[in-house]
Amino acid sequence: MALIVQKYGGTSVGSPDRIKNVANRVAKYQAEGHQVVVVVSAMSGETNRLIALTKEVAATPDPREMDVVISTGEQVTIGLLCMALQAAGVKARSYTGGQVKILTDSAFTKARILNIDEAPIKADLNSGHVVVVAGFQGVDELGNITTLGRGGSDTTGVALAAALKADECQIYTDVDGVYTTDPRIVPEARKLDRITFEEMLEMASLGSKVLQIRSVEFAGKYRVKLRVLSSFQDGGEGTLITVEEETNMEQPVISGIAFNRDEAKLTVLGVPDKPGIAYQILGPIADANIDVDMIIQNVGHDGCTDFSFTVGRGDLEKAAKILEGVKAHIGARSIVADKSMAKVSIVGVGMRSHPGVASRMFRTLAEEGINIQMISTSEIKISVAIDEKYLELAVRVLHKAFELETA
Ligand code: ADP
Ligand code: ASP
Ligand code: MG
Repeated sequence: MALIVQKYGGTSVGSPDRIKNVANRVAKYQAEGHQVVVVVSAMSGETNRLIALTKEVAATPDPREMDVVISTGEQVTIGLLCMALQAAGVKARSYTGGQVKILTDSAFTKARILNIDEAPIKADLNSGHVVVVAGFQGVDELGNITTLGRGGSDTTGVALAAALKADECQIYTDVDGVYTTDPRIVPEARKLDRITFEEMLEMASLGSKVLQIRSVEFAGKYRVKLRVLSSFQDGGEGTLITVEEETNMEQPVISGIAFNRDEAKLTVLGVPDKPGIAYQILGPIADANIDVDMIIQNVGHDGCTDFSFTVGRGDLEKAAKILEGVKAHIGARSIVADKSMAKVSIVGVGMRSHPGVASRMFRTLAEEGINIQMISTSEIKISVAIDEKYLELAVRVLHKAFELETA
């Protein structure tokens, strides 16, 4: 007998029939003698609908009230799934994040899980129930409802698996595993049987939203056995997220390509080339809680230089306004904003032992006439910022150049 946590995403519970399918899958696992905890998302499109509603009422909704609204989608699915399970003859009980309870900090809309009270879940499991928990939500010390950020049900699933010391956490979604890149963009993308935590963490943080970043962090930290699988397909091993030692010694150089359209670039032109300039430009940006991603400072000429950095598109206007404010003070000539940027990243632990990866990437992009505007690297990834209109082309040619269809 194993204890399994299964998480089903929005598409997997997107209609009453799909909820019944999930119930059948869960019933099958229980009939095999396993204890099952199920975490569900809201039905597909529901969280977006709720967010749109809040925007119709208030231009900048209060974050506490925002969480009261957007956490409701998951409450509907836990109740419906329990009804479907009961109709299939399975004892089932639903819990909201507050009921479980999943204790979080009070950072509304992006709360972090602090603790989970696993005792009541264990008691239900031991009395033969399937326990169905609402994903994406928790409660803070004062009893306020919180949510965990978009895609947060993955994190609920992994955190529950860690708290319950589950044998496996299965993330059921609309693809049958983690692919070399988003199969919606590159149809030749190949499913990976395994990927390391480290690589998955990079892929998730560089834009592959198949798993929420925090869920991967949690799984790595608490050594949760994590698997991504299709909810529309029976059988199949999906993709196992593993520690490096367990993966194939013949690791390919690159494991995957991630991309993100949500980039914007700001350039401060003609700043004096002297100590303290980066701080004077980026200090006020950090004070406004704006995340800066890639940074580049050009070689100075005639005592002046240009300084560029990227931020999320949603922060562009705010960041540009801040720069206009500091422009005179730092003696810059002008500010240029470009909101149509994208970032493409190649990821792989194999990079550590294979030189020449960056040059292969740059040559491939050059052959297609794609201009690289910024570059950033870590031990296992290389990212480039390019014009958004070349994004899909860049992903496709890199996928081919690194032979990811056949690796
Ligand atoms: P869910 O609603 O089940 O949480 P998501 O939409 O959050 O599902 O995540 C699944 C989607 O992630 C897929 O449909 C796919 O388009 C996208 N995706 C992006 N990058 C990858 C990748 N490398 N491998 C698999 N899927 C990916
Ligand atoms: N329903 C939430 C969202 O759409 C959480 C999730 O699906 O994981 O972001
Ligand atoms: Mg998701």
